[in-house]
Amino acid sequence: STGSMFRASMQAESEVGLLARRCIERGELVPDSVTVEIVKERIQQADCSKGFLLDGFPRSVAQAESLDEALQALRKELDAAVNITIPAEESVSRIANRRVCAQCGASAQAGGARDAGVAAVCRECGGKLVQRPDDTPETAQHRLKVYAAQTKPVADYYQRQGRLITVDGLRPVEQVFASIIARLQPADKMINEA
Ligand code: AMP
Repeated sequence: STGSMFRASMQAESEVGLLARRCIERGELVPDSVTVEIVKERIQQADCSKGFLLDGFPRSVAQAESLDEALQALRKELDAAVNITIPAEESVSRIANRRVCAQCGASAQAGGARDAGVAAVCRECGGKLVQRPDDTPETAQHRLKVYAAQTKPVADYYQRQGRLITVDGLRPVEQVFASIIARLQPADKMINEA
């Protein structure tokens, strides 16, 4: 997750962290050159040798193109790009209600009708749940504008490559997960989503 990598560099107060903080707090993207570099470095680490999943990357067509070039140089190929869709107003509400574990980074939904019973501690590790500073309704609205201008074209980019898997994110997590897994099967075993 590039977002998590940026939050770690912010905590470490590195040069990348200081730059990332300015962008993240405004709901802007971190510049492509910086983002691409951290991803390139990360995917060459040993735990990525058998494959990897990128979360929140690429978020611009320039990032997608750089990823293709980097993978080509590494003689690797992207299997699929997963696009989980929800209406804009639902994403603002999920962002406003999102809490993250200060200890392990897991996400949870707090309050509201969706998950009224969520405890104030992390279900995974018992850590303290906190709100991300960029998870305000105002920043969320701006992030949606940035999404429409810079990230939505990435879906078209992968559609043209025949790699795009679009799933409806308005269903329970287990169903969304099952749809993705089913669509990631090789073509001869593919189960079409209803
Ligand atoms: P996330 O945790 O995925 O919601 O990302 C939080 C913030 O980190 C975003 O709003 C951006 O400011 C920044 N960020 C994460 N991933 C990227 C990316 N691929 N390109 C540029 N900025 C990013």
